[in-house]
Amino acid sequence: MKLLSTGNPKVLKGMKQGYNTYILHLAPADLSGYETCPKRTTGCTGSCLNLAGRGGMFKRGETTNVIQQARIRKTKMFFEQRIEFMAHLVKDIELGIKQSARLGLTPVFRLNGTSDLSFEKYPVIRNSKIYRNIFEAFADIQFYDYTKVLGRKVNSIANYSLTFSAADGNDADVAKAIEQGYNIATVFGIKKTLPMPETYMGLPVFNGDESDLRFLDPRGVIVGLYAKGKAKKDLTGFVKYPTIMLKAA
Ligand code: SF4
Repeated sequence: MKLLSTGNPKVLKGMKQGYNTYILHLAPADLSGYETCPKRTTGCTGSCLNLAGRGGMFKRGETTNVIQQARIRKTKMFFEQRIEFMAHLVKDIELGIKQSARLGLTPVFRLNGTSDLSFEKYPVIRNSKIYRNIFEAFADIQFYDYTKVLGRKVNSIANYSLTFSAADGNDADVAKAIEQGYNIATVFGIKKTLPMPETYMGLPVFNGDESDLRFLDPRGVIVGLYAKGKAKKDLTGFVKYPTIMLKAA
């Protein structure tokens, strides 16, 4: 079983900038019987990108597909066979590093493609040595994620970049995250043909759809994302509807 995947449209944009992103997609929420998103909200659960692209394509009359089944299998392995899972992850990351070198690209890794687990908490073994977490085991490799979990102990991890995600009902956490220096990913309910608002919540907006390479973003910004898939119909407050001033032609 392959744990990591590449190839979504935003990853392809990153390749043009010289980066090869490998993403771990687990089953979000409690779809596997195990909760992987401790701070999920009604809105984000309903609009989750788990069902974007091929992950959301089902044969007539079916409610699952091979992609969803694989995500559930991987998640069960994470919870039920943690040591084997982490060993598998180490091997897949090593493979990704080698593949990227052949392509002349810099490998980067996002472990919470469709989950929000605190990977800094899980020890791993690499080359017979125990490390506190996967980031320490690959100290010269860049990792990044989005999270809704405030207070993760990641400040001392130089190769792990976290962007905090705004959602319905987590305004207080967003305010604290801004105080703590996080960029805030915010989904805007505006058409892709329209520009992002220049500012939101008093901070400049940076277009986060240009690539997924969040560790390259300027600091102190709102990372604006256009609503996609089910999020286009969200009315829970997960998707934000800013006022946009259009410039006269
Ligand atoms: S926290 Fe993220 S991965 Fe989990 S349900 Fe919400 S949007 Fe999906």
